[in-house]
Amino acid sequence: MEEKEILSGKNLDELKAFTKSIGESDFRARQIHNWIYLKSVSDFEQMTDLSKKTREKLAEIAVITDVKIKNKQVSHDGTIKYLIEYADGNCVETVLMRFDNRANLTACVSSQVGCACGCKFCATAKLGFVRNLTTREIVEQILTIQRDTGLKVSNVVFMGQGEPLLNLDNVLSAIEILNKNFQIGIRRITVSTCGIIPQIKKLAAMDFQPTLAISLHAPEHELRTELMPVEKKYPLSELMPVLKNYAEDTGRRITIEYTLIRDCNDSVECAKKLALLLAGIKSNINLIIYNPNDKDNFQKPEKQTVQKFKYILEQSGKKVTIRLERGADIDAACGQLSNKYRNDS
Ligand code: SF4
Repeated sequence: MEEKEILSGKNLDELKAFTKSIGESDFRARQIHNWIYLKSVSDFEQMTDLSKKTREKLAEIAVITDVKIKNKQVSHDGTIKYLIEYADGNCVETVLMRFDNRANLTACVSSQVGCACGCKFCATAKLGFVRNLTTREIVEQILTIQRDTGLKVSNVVFMGQGEPLLNLDNVLSAIEILNKNFQIGIRRITVSTCGIIPQIKKLAAMDFQPTLAISLHAPEHELRTELMPVEKKYPLSELMPVLKNYAEDTGRRITIEYTLIRDCNDSVECAKKLALLLAGIKSNINLIIYNPNDKDNFQKPEKQTVQKFKYILEQSGKKVTIRLERGADIDAACGQLSNKYRNDS
């Protein structure tokens, strides 16, 4: 039996080519496009402005998606964490966070199965690298959320499993689909990297840029090398000038992600060094409270330490936010659910 065509993840031109191949019009492609991306249906039967005959024909030769929700956890704060399974049995995590109000729905998506970067505080690093996600597999994460909740995602952050800049082509194609097909503004899409310098330069040279977030987590070489092996290849001394140029060339402010870990990188000295490091770089700082897991010995920082750290950075003129703790009662840090599922199964 011939394999059925999978329609989600196709852009409008690809859908037009598909409808043409089955003797249907461009208009039909546009209808299918809207049902998939804007109304998030999972069954051709739900495409009510298509004739019954067309719906039956489509069901015979195509499917909308082939991904499954393998596990789902809902936090008391509304955060939903999905473990999504692809056709080859590999799984990734996708998280839906609700901020401020129901209109601000942020999807935190994965770009790879596992990750090769080996950050010491990261649950995904324990999985190792398995493979890159395809464009369609990235897009399917947002579609899965929309189908499951009936809500429209408004913001997307590439902060789930994997290093997005090590899968740049597929991530950029997915961003194009998110922007054009889902109609999510480019400034509402954030790509977070641990600092892959050549790819940051490539992003800077593009016509459009998503918001760039840098996972810094330490203000100097020795400590960062301990926490993030990527520092050996792309040290802060080379990364910071690239970030400065990126902000100047693109006119976009960079988000600096800094996870505070007790007695590791949360000292007053670290805060002062960080302020100095970021002087002259157009950036906002996002402090993240470490979310402990049972795989390492890191601890959550004290509340007063966090406030002191924030204060020092603010004194240097930076805008600082503390990322709201989301889904603390579920396995919400990236990689935690996959790890747990692997251990349990
Ligand atoms: S923090 Fe990001 S880059 Fe580092 S190991 Fe985890 S997924 Fe990879």
